[in-house]
Amino acid sequence: MQLDIGRALKSPGVEFEFALEEARAPEPWHGDELVFERPISLSGVYAAAGESILLRGEVRTTVSAPCADCLEPAVLPVSARVDEVFTREEDPDDPDRFTYEGHVLHLDDLVLGAILLEMPMRLLCRPDCKGLCPICGANLNHTQCACQKEMPSKQPFAALASLLNQDEEV
Ligand SMILES: [Zn+2]
Ligand SMILES: [Zn+2]
Repeated sequence: MQLDIGRALKSPGVEFEFALEEARAPEPWHGDELVFERPISLSGVYAAAGESILLRGEVRTTVSAPCADCLEPAVLPVSARVDEVFTREEDPDDPDRFTYEGHVLHLDDLVLGAILLEMPMRLLCRPDCKGLCPICGANLNHTQCACQKEMPSKQPFAALASLLNQDEEV
């Protein structure tokens, strides 16, 4: 994703609106774990201030990734704010600062970084995902496996109580 900032460089201090949309969705990311369901769009304003370019806007796309509990695809619409300063020269005190050459801003790193920041630590396919059975691995959203019936009783003191009763009888 690129933005031609020639107009802003000729008119410092003037804000220009822009709207960019990629023609197609990016390739999957992180070993195919993060899939882009839609192309990325970015819109906002930019302006030149001296040798710097100020850019403010909103990134939008839709991604999917394996649900943290059941591993089926969990779809997440993403909308992320970006507010960034691009400088012509690299800043030795701030190596993370974005730079530009000529009259073009390269926005891929900014946009992808903003999307990653919006990803939750645990992405779920739905808020009440039931996950996988820890015993047989069945997806409990779709099926009720037999394992649950064999789980321990919810009355752990029942067995103890019957033991005490036996003691009394002796
Ligand atoms: Zn799930
Ligand atoms: Zn099971």
